[in-house]
Amino acid sequence: MAQTPPESAVILFDGTDLSNWTSLDGGDPSWQVEGDAMLVVPRTGDVISKETFTDHFVHVEFRCPDMPEATGQAKGNSGVFLQGRYEVQVLDSYGIDVPGMGDCGAIYNQFAPLVNACKPPLEWQTYDIIFRAPRFDDGGAMTEGPRITVIQNGLVIINNAQLAGATVGSIDSEAATPGPLKLQDHGNDVRYRNIWAVPLPLEGSDKY
Ligand code: MG
Repeated sequence: MAQTPPESAVILFDGTDLSNWTSLDGGDPSWQVEGDAMLVVPRTGDVISKETFTDHFVHVEFRCPDMPEATGQAKGNSGVFLQGRYEVQVLDSYGIDVPGMGDCGAIYNQFAPLVNACKPPLEWQTYDIIFRAPRFDDGGAMTEGPRITVIQNGLVIINNAQLAGATVGSIDSEAATPGPLKLQDHGNDVRYRNIWAVPLPLEGSDKY
C-alpha cells in the first residue's frame, strides 16, 4: 500500500523524533530513535500518540527481531492499538501455516488473520489499517461495535471484523471517546517507522 502519506495525513513518526508521542502517564516516551526507526526499549512501557482519533486510516511499518530460540508470545511481540483499545498483534509468526488469534495480524484474542502475510524477522513489514469507531444511539448505548480492516504487506488479513469490545491491554474502559494510537512494549526489540494516520469523516453527504 501507499508508503507516502497523503497531504491530509497526521504524521505521527517520520524518523525525526518522538515529539508526537508520550508514555502512558503523559511523560516523555522511553523509546529511542535510531536511523529512521523508533525502537521499543524493552520493559520501559508502551507509548501513545498525542493525537487522538475516531474513524481513521493508519499506516505503520514494523520490524520484528530475530529470536530463533523464542516461541509463541515471546517471539518478537509488540502491538498496534487502535484508539489505545484494540490491538492488532505484532509478533514473529513467519511461516506458521494457520495463524491463530494470538499471532501476527490478529485482533488479539478475538480474530485470527485470514492468511499468513508475514515476512521473516528483521524484514520491514506494513500494516494499513482502516478503523471505524463504535456507534451509539442518543441514549449512549452502543449500536455497532468497532470495525477493523487490516492489510499486511498488501494482503487483506482482517476483513471488516466487528469487535465485541476492547482487547487485553486497553488504556481505558471507554469506547465513545477518541483515543490515541498505542504501540506496545512486550519486552522485545521491535521497531517501527513511517507512521501516519488520516482521520476519516464519520459519514459522507446525504445528497445525491
Ligand atoms: Mg502484542
